[in-house]
Parts: sequence; structure tokens; C-alpha cells
Amino acid sequence: MLLLEIDLRPFGQLHSQVSRVGDLGRVGKGVKCSVQGCGKEAVRSLPVEKVVKAGLKVTGSRRAYLCKEHYKDFKKATKLERLVDKWRYRAR
Ligand SMILES: [Zn+2]
Repeated sequence: MLLLEIDLRPFGQLHSQVSRVGDLGRVGKGVKCSVQGCGKEAVRSLPVEKVVKAGLKVTGSRRAYLCKEHYKDFKKATKLERLVDKWRYRAR
């Protein structure tokens, strides 16, 4: 019983930290990047569907956490998408 309590406490702290800052897109310390095979420290959290759309392979159901490098990739990808949308809009 004592062991169980010790194991759960860090998880509870991490969880409350993430949900508190999650809406701002900031990530608490110790959260890892959600991109498969990465595992670096995350700097931003974003909706999973947006990240998947940008072409990044992430695990998780609602929010994805991205490290500096992958956030750069994400921004690049979404910038291009926005540009394409602009072109489409002009063509109409
Ligand atoms: Zn990463």
C-alpha cells in the first residue's frame, strides 16, 4: 500500500501541472516530446489532430507535446499549409 502511494504521487503532480498550463500551449518541466522515437523535453502542447495533419507521428489521444525541434517542424508544416490555403482562396 505504501509503495503504491509513492508511485502515484509524481504522476499526479505531473498531471496537474500539464492540465494547468495546457491551454496556454506551454508545457511543464519533465514532459517528453510525443513524437515517436524522440523523447526530448517538450516545450509546447498542441491538439493531436493538428500535429498529425502537419505530418508528425505522435502518440496520445488529445494533446501532443513537442520538443523545440519538432515544434519548428510543426510550424514549418503549418506555414506551408496556410500558404496553400491562401493560394486556393485567391484562385477561387
Ligand atoms: Zn521531438
